[in-house]
Amino acid sequence: MAINRRDFLKFSAGAGLMLTAAPTRGQAAPRGELPPDAVGILYDATLCIGCMSCMVNCKKANSEPGGALYHKETAGQIPFEYPQGDPIYDAPDNLSSKTLCVIKAYRDGDGEQPGQSEKGGPAFSFVKQHCLHCLEPACVSVCPVAALQKQPDTGIVTYNKNRCFGCRYCQIACPFGIPAYEWEKASPSVVKCQLCNHRYAQGGYSACCEFCPTGASIFGKVKDLREEAKRRLALKPGETYAYPVKRVDGDERTEQVVAEYVNHVYGLEEAGGTQYLFLAGVSFDKLGFNPRITNQVYPDFTWDYVSHVPALIGTLLVAGTALRVVTQKLEKKNNDAGKGDAS
Ligand code: SF4
Ligand code: SF4
Ligand code: SF4
Repeated sequence: MAINRRDFLKFSAGAGLMLTAAPTRGQAAPRGELPPDAVGILYDATLCIGCMSCMVNCKKANSEPGGALYHKETAGQIPFEYPQGDPIYDAPDNLSSKTLCVIKAYRDGDGEQPGQSEKGGPAFSFVKQHCLHCLEPACVSVCPVAALQKQPDTGIVTYNKNRCFGCRYCQIACPFGIPAYEWEKASPSVVKCQLCNHRYAQGGYSACCEFCPTGASIFGKVKDLREEAKRRLALKPGETYAYPVKRVDGDERTEQVVAEYVNHVYGLEEAGGTQYLFLAGVSFDKLGFNPRITNQVYPDFTWDYVSHVPALIGTLLVAGTALRVVTQKLEKKNNDAGKGDAS
């Protein structure tokens, strides 16, 4: 489809405006500090059995299609009930525009027992990946139109698709490779975990924690999650501990034998700190965490880089705006055609 002169001028003017309105660092709490009501998730890989209930319920809570035990007729329904017939089985192996949360596995040699520490020989561990809700999110800092924002009270990093014009600079900036893009859609959006912000606003909390049967994923105030994580690191392997289930501040507990932890809470310092914290029995680089991610605040890295390559931003902004114009035109054309068919 050709873009006519009017469209070209429209997108050029838009891109020009974007370029003159230079990106500003996103609004957040003072550097390195937790927002006052910061909420997050603690994932303890030594408790995770790889059941993927978190993945399935993440999809249901966010009305995303596909995924283990997915059935299109019940997608988005809560509570969830299967219709007659077999569900469709599908296990995504990575984050994508349809998968905001993914469980991956690490196995070394004969390791078979989930949560098996590498200190005891062959290791086996699951790991749950989704947005870490960084204290200083690089994605927020580079977004020229504030489509991504860190909420000043909860610290949740949210996305507003009505602001986004598709430059996808957030994808390049995120040190954890989290944001996905809906390439398959005529009018695409960036997709990532928003910590079930919509459920939290209505008194609920993250679906991946609510439906985790073992307490491997728990939701709560970040300061409580940090204390809980440090408490676990002080436990002795082999003793029993009443692990909280679903929420760190809830009454539900499960008695479990304490595994051998790697003596580190991932996310306390990495990338300037995150609101999604991890414990594991296997070193974090083996679980897929990039060892090149340091404790440095990532917007600093990004801005050092960006300030030296303004042409890169310009190119991305113009390309993103052009893409948006084209896709919106395509979508309008499809809609118009659809209306014609229906009549
Ligand atoms: S993990 Fe990536 S997408 Fe999530 S807040 Fe941090 S920079 Fe943004
Ligand atoms: S917090 Fe919500 S959106 Fe994020 S991974 Fe968990 S269920 Fe999915
Ligand atoms: S985090 Fe919980 S729900 Fe997800 S796979 Fe592990 S045990 Fe299952």
